[in-house]
Amino acid sequence: CGIVGVIGHKNAQSVIINGLEKLEYRGYDSAGMFLTNNEEDSQLTKVVGRIEGLKEATKDQVNFKTGIGHTRWATHGPATKDNAHPHVSQSGRFTIVHNGVIENYQELREKYLKDVTFKSQTDTEVIVNLVEYFALKEDLTAKEAFRKALKEVKGSYALGLLDNEEPGVLYAAKNKSPLLIGVGEDFNVICSDAMATINETDQYLEIKDKELITLTANSVEIETLDGEKVERMAYTAELDA
Ligand code: GLU
Repeated sequence: CGIVGVIGHKNAQSVIINGLEKLEYRGYDSAGMFLTNNEEDSQLTKVVGRIEGLKEATKDQVNFKTGIGHTRWATHGPATKDNAHPHVSQSGRFTIVHNGVIENYQELREKYLKDVTFKSQTDTEVIVNLVEYFALKEDLTAKEAFRKALKEVKGSYALGLLDNEEPGVLYAAKNKSPLLIGVGEDFNVICSDAMATINETDQYLEIKDKELITLTANSVEIETLDGEKVERMAYTAELDA
């Protein structure tokens, strides 16, 4: 299972497909990708089986700057197209990819999401709807809603989150599942392993558990869940491209 996300690149589709192919060694049963320039111009594609199928289905989607891609190793719900990631919140506003297991997803669903009609059997769909719940019900920005959701979820996760209302921003976080930031020139990426995007950049930043990451094409912001800014230097990944 793996994650590749990109913001501000000239060809998000190729960054994600090439990256997911490099992560194939981690194993997976299905794959998917969300590409976007803005709310009116976005594509969600999911396949059961090989990345080859995702590549074929998205080969014409070459004009997107931003996206999140995922290979799934099913833990909650079988390997079906509906259970494949990315998952979208009920209103369509938020889109998420997740590796890991949310232990308290049933409690969260009971507590906050009784009115949501779920489209999958995954624990992941609870997180994306929880972000939306806090954004709408408590009138929070995407970042503050994500922070609040992260404070509620228990378990392991690597997450990439996009908000239709903020097409230039990619949010990320991790806890006990791998995720890194890759720093490019006028773009940034997230990935499970630097190997995924080493052809795009060799500059990486570690993410620590329970940090909140905000990426734009030209900026990387790391903070704790309590809102304290974190300064961290990029390192040069020495891998064969
Ligand atoms: N628990 C999530 C699911 O079953 C994510 C699995 C993964 O790590 O790929 O969809």
